Amino acid sequence: MSDVKFYSGEQVPLEMHKVRMVQRVYLLPIEERARRMQTAGYNTFLLQNKDIYLDMLTDSGVNAMSENQYASMLQADDSYAGSETYYRLESVLKDMFGMEHFLPAHQGRACEHIIARLLVKPDSVAVMNYHFTTSKAHISAMGGKVEEIIIDEGLKISSDFPFKGNADIEKLREAISRLGKDKISFVRMEAGTNLIGGQPVSMGNMREVSKICRAAGIPLVYDASLLSDNLYFIKVREPEFKDVDIIDITREIGSLMDIVYFSARKLGAARGGGILTSDQNMFLKMREMIPLYEGFLTYGGMSVREMEAMSIGLRESLDMDIINQTPIFVEVLCKELLKNGIPVVTPPGGLGCHVDAKQFCSHLSQDKYPAGALAAAVYMAAGVRGMERGTLSEQRNPDGSETFANLELLRLAFPKRVFTLSQVKYVADRLVWLYNNREMIGGLEFEDEPAVLRFFFGRLKPIGNWPEKLTQQFRKDFGDSL
Ligand SMILES: *Cc1c(COP(=O)(O)O)cnc(C)c1O
Repeated sequence: MSDVKFYSGEQVPLEMHKVRMVQRVYLLPIEERARRMQTAGYNTFLLQNKDIYLDMLTDSGVNAMSENQYASMLQADDSYAGSETYYRLESVLKDMFGMEHFLPAHQGRACEHIIARLLVKPDSVAVMNYHFTTSKAHISAMGGKVEEIIIDEGLKISSDFPFKGNADIEKLREAISRLGKDKISFVRMEAGTNLIGGQPVSMGNMREVSKICRAAGIPLVYDASLLSDNLYFIKVREPEFKDVDIIDITREIGSLMDIVYFSARKLGAARGGGILTSDQNMFLKMREMIPLYEGFLTYGGMSVREMEAMSIGLRESLDMDIINQTPIFVEVLCKELLKNGIPVVTPPGGLGCHVDAKQFCSHLSQDKYPAGALAAAVYMAAGVRGMERGTLSEQRNPDGSETFANLELLRLAFPKRVFTLSQVKYVADRLVWLYNNREMIGGLEFEDEPAVLRFFFGRLKPIGNWPEKLTQQFRKDFGDSL
C-alpha cells in the first residue's frame, strides 16, 4: 500500500486528520439490544439510530465533513437564480473531470432518472459492468432492460484479482454484435461497484470499453458515486498510475466518458448530485428536464449550503490522505476477520467489509435468509448495524417463489472518517465471538412482507428462540460487560 502512512514497523495506519466535533453514542446491554431487534422485526432498517452503537448501514449522506466544508456553508449565496454558490460548484466539477457542461440534481437517483429519460427507449438494453438498485429501477421504469457484463472473477467471494469491477470486454463485444447498436440505450460503467463488494474498475478497462463504445457509436455513461475509493485503488493497484496526480486520473476518466453522474451523498461528502457531459446535444436535452424534475438550473433541488459543502468536499476527494482512510479501514477489518477464519469478500474493496453469510451461516438454507439473520445477530452481539445484501433484498417471482441471490452478503459500510481504529477492532472482536457461536444463529421468516422493496419495511421473526439462547451465551462469555 503505497502512499499510506504507518507507525514504523507495525502495520497501524495513521489518520491524516483529527476529530474536532463528536457525537455521543450508546451501547445498550445485550438484553436491551435483543429487545430492540425484536421490536424492529429483525430488520436492521427498522432500528432507531439512538439504539445503535456503530451505524455501518451505509455511507450515504453520513460521511464526516471537514472544518472547511462547514465553514463554506456560511458563505452560501442564497438566491433562486444565478447563485454564486452554483458557479463555484460548476467550476470545481468542470475542472475536476475536464468536461464542458454541468447540470445539478438533488441526488444520484435523480441523475439516473434524467439520463434514463434521455437515452432509454422501450425494450432497449442498457449494458453495464454491474447494476445498482436505483439505476436499474429507472431504466426499468422507462421500459428498458439491463444486461450485466461483469468479469467472472467479479462474482467470486474469494479472489486476488485487483479490479473485480471490470467489464468483460468479450461480453461487451458479444452484446454489441448480438443486440446491435440501435438496441443498446447506453453502456454504463459504475466506479467501485456497490453491490458486489465495492470492487474497483481499472483505467485500462475503462479505456478499452470507451474505445469500443466510440467505435460503435454507443453513449458511455459513468456512475462516479463511489469514485474516491476507485481513484485510491487505481493509484495503489495499477502500476502506471503510481506517480500520477489524482486530478489527472480523474480527468482521464472524464475524457473517456460521454456522461458522468454522481451522488454527492457519497462523492464529495455532502448531499446532492450532478451530471456532466461534453456533448452539446445531450446537454441541451437534459437541461430541459432539470427545471421540470429537480429545480431551477442553478440549484437543481439542492440547498445552497450543501452545494458549498460539496464544492469543498469534491476538491478534498482529490487528496490521497483524505480518500485513503475508508479502503484502509476496510482492509484492516477484512484481514482481522480472515485471520480468524471468517469468510469475507476479497480483495478488500472500498465502501465496506462484506461478510459471506452463505459460509458464515452454512447451516441455514437461502430460504431462511442467512444474511438477514446474520445482520440481526451482529446487532444483538455488538450493537453494530449492517445491511443485508442477499435474498431478502431480492423480490419474489410472480408465482410467489423466492429469487435466491447470487451472493448472501452482510455489508458493514464505513462512512468516511467517522469511526476510530479501536471501534474497527471492536467490530472484529464481536464478529469473532459470533463466528465461534455461529451454530446458534437461526433463520428468519416473514411476519409482514411488503410486495415491493420488502427489505426496507418488511418485518420478520426468528425461527425458534435462537435470539434468547444467543443472549444467554453472550452473558456467560462476557459476564457483566456490555
Ligand atoms: C448511492 C448510489 C446511487 C444513488 O444515489 P442516491 O444519492 O442515493 O440517490 C447510485 N449509484 C451508486 C453506485 C450509488 O452507490
